[in-house]
Amino acid sequence: MKELFYSVTPLEELFVKLDKLDVSPPVVEVSVWDALGRVLAEDFRSPVNVPHFRRAARDGYAVVARDTFGAGEEKPVTLRVIGEVKAGDERSPRIGDRACVKVATGALMPEGADAVVMVEHAVEREEYVDVYRAVTPGENVVEEGRDIRRGALVVEKGRVLAPQDIGAIAATGVDKVRVYGRLRVAVASTGDELVAPGGELKPGKIYDVNSVTLVNAVRASGGEAVYMGVIRDSRELLLNALREALATCDVVVFSGGTSKGPGDAVPSALRDLGDLDFMIHGLAMKPGKPTAVASYKGKPVFMLPGYPTSALLSYYVIVDPYIRKWSHLPPCEGMEVKARAGVKIFSEEGRLEFKPVRLKVEGGEVRVYPAYTGSEAITTLSLTHGYIEIKASRSFIEQGEEVTVRLFRPLREIRGLEEESW
Ligand code: AMP
Ligand code: MG
Repeated sequence: MKELFYSVTPLEELFVKLDKLDVSPPVVEVSVWDALGRVLAEDFRSPVNVPHFRRAARDGYAVVARDTFGAGEEKPVTLRVIGEVKAGDERSPRIGDRACVKVATGALMPEGADAVVMVEHAVEREEYVDVYRAVTPGENVVEEGRDIRRGALVVEKGRVLAPQDIGAIAATGVDKVRVYGRLRVAVASTGDELVAPGGELKPGKIYDVNSVTLVNAVRASGGEAVYMGVIRDSRELLLNALREALATCDVVVFSGGTSKGPGDAVPSALRDLGDLDFMIHGLAMKPGKPTAVASYKGKPVFMLPGYPTSALLSYYVIVDPYIRKWSHLPPCEGMEVKARAGVKIFSEEGRLEFKPVRLKVEGGEVRVYPAYTGSEAITTLSLTHGYIEIKASRSFIEQGEEVTVRLFRPLREIRGLEEESW
């Protein structure tokens, strides 16, 4: 009977609709000190040549290469040392024939010199040096702009900045970069029974779990979570909270109050806003059936189920990939492993199911076991390592069958896989 109230939509249909939204954070400027992991919003081209002067690539003697021709281990060439240049010295003497200048790695090359004899191939005697190996023009010298040419592309738009990328930018003297801002995601829980953690719990009340998990999940997705608090089950308060969330944020993620019928507080409050495009109300997946998604003037509003495990699992399946995409971040990679089912895993036929699972190493092979707790248990996701997807057409996964596990954390961070912990 209950199915009658639900027009459940397949997940792919929701994805098609979400793909059509054009959500993007504004471009912001951040210091190179704070740029790690940010996404470059524009191609970065160098404003200068790097290096911007000709410099010695080795400790040794800056020479006119021609003067060293014919030098060998048996037959050194002797040159006069007319000065010394250290790294950072702003002047360098000019050299003439059969003279040289002692230079340190990185030193400004003397005018007239076109190569550096490495210190290992020379022996200094008072104001002379014996050179035991000939050099060719350009040897051990870094020409101006050899590393980076003025105007050259240093880091391309869309790159997630790693230390070496930021270093290459800083090498051109630039200390600020233009990156995509973090997507502002409003997070709120709804329900008269909810008390914020730290508060006093009276009979009939429970602590609000979803706010904490979803705020942190948004951060893990690369978004900026804007916590709006616990909202009572009142149409007016819900409407106010939604208005505020839509006015100040790019994306809205509310949880609770989404079931159809008397519990349908959040979607119906949203309907009162008008101007609203309901993408779905009811998803053909388990858990997460009482999920509603709408867009208000192009801004996505996710209304997730109240049960903490359902809320977070739905977040991982539906919201996380889009927060990443809209933030111009790559999809979560390296977070999947293939493994075999350790037991037969049952599933409801006719509904796409996301089943939390635990990994265990047995006989040198990773095996997958379903959670023994249900979606009403708050600890289910904390006790598991990831989840598997079971297609609607399947009513079970055979023992030994290969499945793909989407992990909650990288495999290397999972401890004690070899131990019997369940
Ligand atoms: P609802 O979808 O609002 O009917 O909630 C379904 C179940 O999840 C109820 O037992 C709620 O008390 C519980 N629940 C809803 N929101 C939260 C929350 N933020 N934290 C913990 N439990 C919640
Ligand atoms: Mg509720």
